[in-house]
Amino acid sequence: MLQQVYGHSSGSGAQGGESLREDLREFLSGEAPLHQLDDLTKVNPVTLETVLRCLQARYAADTFYTNAGCTLVALNPFKPVPQLYSPALMREYHAAPQPQKLKPHIFTVGEQTYRNVKSLTEPVNQSVIVSGESGAGKTWTSRCLMKFFAVVAASPTSWESHRITERIEQRILNSNPVMEAFGNACTLRNNNSSRFGKFIQLQLNRAQQMTGAAVQTYLLEKTRVACQASSERNFHIFYQICKGASTDERLQWHLPEGAAFSWLPNPERTLEEDCFEVTREAMLHLGIDTPTQNNIFQVLAGLLHLGNIRFANSEDEAQPCQLMGDAKCSIRTSALLLQLPEDPLLETLRIRTIRAGRQQVFQKPCSRAECDTRRDCVAKLVYARLFDWLVSVINSSICADPDSWTTFIGLLDVYGFESFPNNSLEQLCINYANEKLQQHFVAHYLRAQQEEYAVEGLEWSFVNYQDNQPCLDLIEGSPISICSLINEECRLNRPSSAAQLQTRIESALAGSPCLGHNKLSREPSFIVVHYAGPVQYHTAGLVEKNKDPVPPELTRLLQQSQDPLLKVLFPADPKEKAQEEPSGQSRAPVLTVVSKFKASLEQLLQVLRSTTPHYIRCIKPNSQGQAHTFLQEEVLSQLEACGLVETIHISAAGFPVRIPHRNFVERYELLRRFLAHTFPGPHGPPPAEGRSAPFAPSRFGGFSSAASSLAASPPERCWAAKGG
Ligand code: ATP
Ligand code: MG
Repeated sequence: MLQQVYGHSSGSGAQGGESLREDLREFLSGEAPLHQLDDLTKVNPVTLETVLRCLQARYAADTFYTNAGCTLVALNPFKPVPQLYSPALMREYHAAPQPQKLKPHIFTVGEQTYRNVKSLTEPVNQSVIVSGESGAGKTWTSRCLMKFFAVVAASPTSWESHRITERIEQRILNSNPVMEAFGNACTLRNNNSSRFGKFIQLQLNRAQQMTGAAVQTYLLEKTRVACQASSERNFHIFYQICKGASTDERLQWHLPEGAAFSWLPNPERTLEEDCFEVTREAMLHLGIDTPTQNNIFQVLAGLLHLGNIRFANSEDEAQPCQLMGDAKCSIRTSALLLQLPEDPLLETLRIRTIRAGRQQVFQKPCSRAECDTRRDCVAKLVYARLFDWLVSVINSSICADPDSWTTFIGLLDVYGFESFPNNSLEQLCINYANEKLQQHFVAHYLRAQQEEYAVEGLEWSFVNYQDNQPCLDLIEGSPISICSLINEECRLNRPSSAAQLQTRIESALAGSPCLGHNKLSREPSFIVVHYAGPVQYHTAGLVEKNKDPVPPELTRLLQQSQDPLLKVLFPADPKEKAQEEPSGQSRAPVLTVVSKFKASLEQLLQVLRSTTPHYIRCIKPNSQGQAHTFLQEEVLSQLEACGLVETIHISAAGFPVRIPHRNFVERYELLRRFLAHTFPGPHGPPPAEGRSAPFAPSRFGGFSSAASSLAASPPERCWAAKGG
């Protein structure tokens, strides 16, 4: 059945003849054709080139999943392959006595994960770490796995609340369209690019049924709300509202058909992600009722109008900037939709409050650039808090009662390694996260496996793996690292140029083997040699981005809103007021972007370390998103970036089959006796009962280890090699 569903065509007509020739070739060479190699550990020899050729052959045969030892490689088909994800196929993997013997698939990973939770004496939490570059298929894969778990771990009971009676799994699945509408956007590399990291914990009860879930998000790219690169778009939700609102809603939200918004570039491009109805429906299922939804959309429309406010330079520095064009109308509409008083909104955008000491307060008109920054800051602040609030609402809707679950399966979908011509704090954080995950992978799998062999006393030539600790020391180490230096600049709050920051980093961290310098670069920068390759980071704006400053008067303004949602997002918190002293006077410790990110990453790793991890590496066969196109250069760089060949080497050199010693003796005792009598060899007469003659190493390869282990005094466990 599985063969039929997505096996390669070996059948009729002309193809039949080709297939026959292939079989003959295979028979004569003794090797399977490349596209039939389900595991990259079987390519011979294991090099980047052979791995690449194997993946290409499989891609051409419409075979998108391949094992690579402990990792599953997932090639993005860039075309619908519905039969590959049908519920029937899910059930088939679920019912299979040995799913790992079926064709490689994300469902194999899913099923192994699911079985691991219960098969051990102590239930163990599991996690699936999905990685890959933008557009490689991480979110797609995570979604499919969630659907898989929703099918195999379906709970027999329904939940009744918010007027809707439905299964909890369905509700958990509904969190996807909502989070994607608000957190995904069309970028140059992916029409549906996740602009945040996500870890979802699927909670299981003792009977292994899904009783709930909890979502944790990381580092939303909030700048996108006010600033989009050319040819990219804002978050999907803005387009959904503008395209999908009814006539009445348009009137209510001041969104006339065809209205132009500067924060809504490329509105003419219609994507399948632009479906407003799907988002609204999913929100409803999550308990976000229609009035609350309308409130959200009204606030978002208010932000779009805010984005149309344009300032002109004032001729007199003592006077606030003038408004340009239709800005007066935009400010009025924005104030109306955000339920803010119009004049204070305008004044707060144009005039800065400076406090000197406890008593004195000065007001200073802002420059045009400062006005723009303050306007963008309001939008980023509102959007980021709205997103966090949505996540908390989703969590309260899907999270199970703590007593109702005992174990969980975590799914991690985070942005992959990034390297652009111009890299800044965002890329530093993303690549830092990837370094941490790589270290977790190395620590868990590569190191653990090698150490286990050493403990078992197996003959084993150690594979040199790239330990990325020096790189992590450079980024986050103590007492001095890139993060600590950037944080220190924020704390000192002194004017420092980009060049000064570069010099500080270079002199303080000169001893690091992972720090580099591009002599040809015209702009101040430094290079970090990541495990996935060197990346040049520009220092301009790094400190400011790390501070992510919010002028306190902007928060105070938003606290004046009469809008019910904004009242929730910006409560008048006395503690908050006390902390928000004007810049330079704050006594509260500065929580920088890097510090917050580091803390959340550490928390995530703690959770991951408490689980048994499973890895899926998504690969993008081309950057145009085209089906049937496998560009070797592009795939090659991804294979290098994830250190796949190194992983395969360890898996291939290692012992993928591990049989308890007792079972091994029972199974192979007869063979041992036969071989001992037939090939007494140079070791003299057959060994006494219970001992073994060694197998010829060159012929049987790694099997010899198992045989010699059999010959030795029985250890706890015995390892058998491929085919053993
Ligand atoms: P980003 O880091 O930008 O969020 P990503 O790795 O999450 O990228 P996805 O959004 O999952 O990438 O995938 C990009 C696109 O590739 C999808 O929108 C879909 O069109 C296509 N795609 C991915 N995986 C599959 C698949 N298994 N079958 C069919 N199409 C797929
Ligand atoms: Mg994604």
